[in-house]
Amino acid sequence: MGKNKLIVITAPSGSGKTTLVKRLLESCPEVEFSISACTRLPRNGEMNGKDYYFYNEEEFKRLIEEDAFAEWEMVYTGKYYGTPKAELQRIWDKGRIPLVDIDVQGALALRASYPGHCLTIFIETPSLEVLRQRLLARGTETPHSLDERVSKAAYELTFAPHFDRIVINDNLDTAITDLNRIVEEFAGN
Ligand code: 5GP
Repeated sequence: MGKNKLIVITAPSGSGKTTLVKRLLESCPEVEFSISACTRLPRNGEMNGKDYYFYNEEEFKRLIEEDAFAEWEMVYTGKYYGTPKAELQRIWDKGRIPLVDIDVQGALALRASYPGHCLTIFIETPSLEVLRQRLLARGTETPHSLDERVSKAAYELTFAPHFDRIVINDNLDTAITDLNRIVEEFAGN
């Protein structure tokens, strides 16, 4: 496969992906988180340039015009998200593998743009009800945005078979072991 590999992880919101990704990054030094750009507001504790590059809509649209994104999308109503090309390059320049955490459409778009260089992984939750409970427990959503996230998750689940690998996040330790094995195998090739 050669250079410039890319790992794309997709999971419905509330699937526990953030914890999984964090654990994966701790144990795989050759993999680095690719920071996306977005126009939603930072959540409590999120930092610009660490969790996301936060932009307003006008700035984001200018970046689209400048062809700065490997892919971009309006993921939620009025909220744009995108993978900056410069971010992928920054990581490749260090000889590392970017790990991109994006939604289904973004994942499929990246695979189409970088054919043969991507490992696509889908993280499944045991059920939509478990997912709804996890989102409720997180306490970051309004009733409307909670429903929007659960419906999007139901839709995204139908795409799981298009991914190279599926990891079920039922038990965190099992999921992290699976994920590590899959990523190490890809990184080592
Ligand atoms: P959140 O608002 O919870 O941080 O993210 C919402 C959704 O946006 C998640 O499904 C996440 O994977 C997706 N997302 C994050 N960054 C990107 C990106 O760069 N491109 C696309 N297409 N989706 C993204």
